[in-house]
Amino acid sequence: MSEELEKFEEETRGEQLRKALLYKKKNGYDRLIAGETEAMEAYCTGYKQFLDAGKTERECVERAITLAELSGFRPYSRGMALQAGDKVYSSNRGKALMLAVIGRQGLDAGVNIGAAHIDSPRLDLKQNPLYESEELAFFKTHYYGGLRKYQWVTIPLELHGVVVLKSGQTVRVSVGDGAGDPLFTIDDLLPHLGAEQSKKPLGTAIPGENLNILVGSRPLRDDEGSDRVKLSVLELLNLKYGIVEEDFISAELCAVPAFKASDIGFDRSLIGAYGQDDRVCAYASLAALLQLQIPERTAVCILADKEEIGSEGVTGMKSGAFDGFMADLCAGQGVLPRACYEKSFCLSADVTAAYDPNFSDVYEKRNSAFVNYGVCLCKYTGARGKSGASDASAELVAQVRKVLDGSNVVWQDRKSVV
Ligand code: MN
Repeated sequence: MSEELEKFEEETRGEQLRKALLYKKKNGYDRLIAGETEAMEAYCTGYKQFLDAGKTERECVERAITLAELSGFRPYSRGMALQAGDKVYSSNRGKALMLAVIGRQGLDAGVNIGAAHIDSPRLDLKQNPLYESEELAFFKTHYYGGLRKYQWVTIPLELHGVVVLKSGQTVRVSVGDGAGDPLFTIDDLLPHLGAEQSKKPLGTAIPGENLNILVGSRPLRDDEGSDRVKLSVLELLNLKYGIVEEDFISAELCAVPAFKASDIGFDRSLIGAYGQDDRVCAYASLAALLQLQIPERTAVCILADKEEIGSEGVTGMKSGAFDGFMADLCAGQGVLPRACYEKSFCLSADVTAAYDPNFSDVYEKRNSAFVNYGVCLCKYTGARGKSGASDASAELVAQVRKVLDGSNVVWQDRKSVV
């Protein structure tokens, strides 16, 4: 054997080994097959509509119910007789939603669950929000969820929510997303007055109590009394919604960024929008369920509220709502809920951070997710010694890998973020 041929064969073996043994990631765009680009665009159009229609968990539930009913889902009531292929949903106080498509197998075979949250960080109005200072009217806010305060000043804001009057009547409020609607904003210092502020750490430069929303500046005409701007704002609110100041006590009003979902980049390859954590997974879980005909195992989708603040409360996952829904479904088939749970499978979906070359020092590159490399499979989360983690077993991860690969789903693993 000539020296040259020997070298060639060695390289071939190396190539073979690389192919056989090494884990090779591939950009999702290099894996697209005919028709998939169009399907992806169509899906993203629906997703962007979902984002624009749902700026709060309440609005997301409404939108999800509309889409579900168009796909043949109907409201579930306890004791309802269900057969394979039946599609039902149950709203928890209009803020969280559970949906199910009944499978061929009984609930004693377990169910497949997709869970995601539909609440997002925002600025909630305090219960006594409206005040006037130096002839400017503001709303006091209490921020909800993990937000970076400096990102909320100087941007246009919309107001969404409900006010429940003393009479019990619920008034919906939505200002900013209609054509010609006014917007709101939170002021920040101009550069030449912000020298001292600029020396502060990012996390403290904008205190939470400074997140006051500017809502008016025009004083009531022909009046000599106090708080003429505030009074003028209240008059407008009363004309439009029939509310008086005390009604704020029983209101849930949220300020959210006033941006419509947009394509990002010359190539339109990304979507920029408020609330993609975690409506990106919520919409995916919902869209998957809406397409189902008759699954083998019953398929369940949970769109949860309150994840951003620890899953607390009667609409969060720590409530009994989901267990109650499952117990009712199980009772319909004479199955013990725990017998169903023992064999059930749940994908707990949420967003993960993709590697950002502009902030490379906070990522561990070998175990980071990358943009365009597909959905992320995260075996465990948790900080320090996996504190707070739900560590999926190797067997379960293997099962998910197999399903994803078998369906040609573009996916990637992501172990942890430093
Ligand atoms: Mn999330």
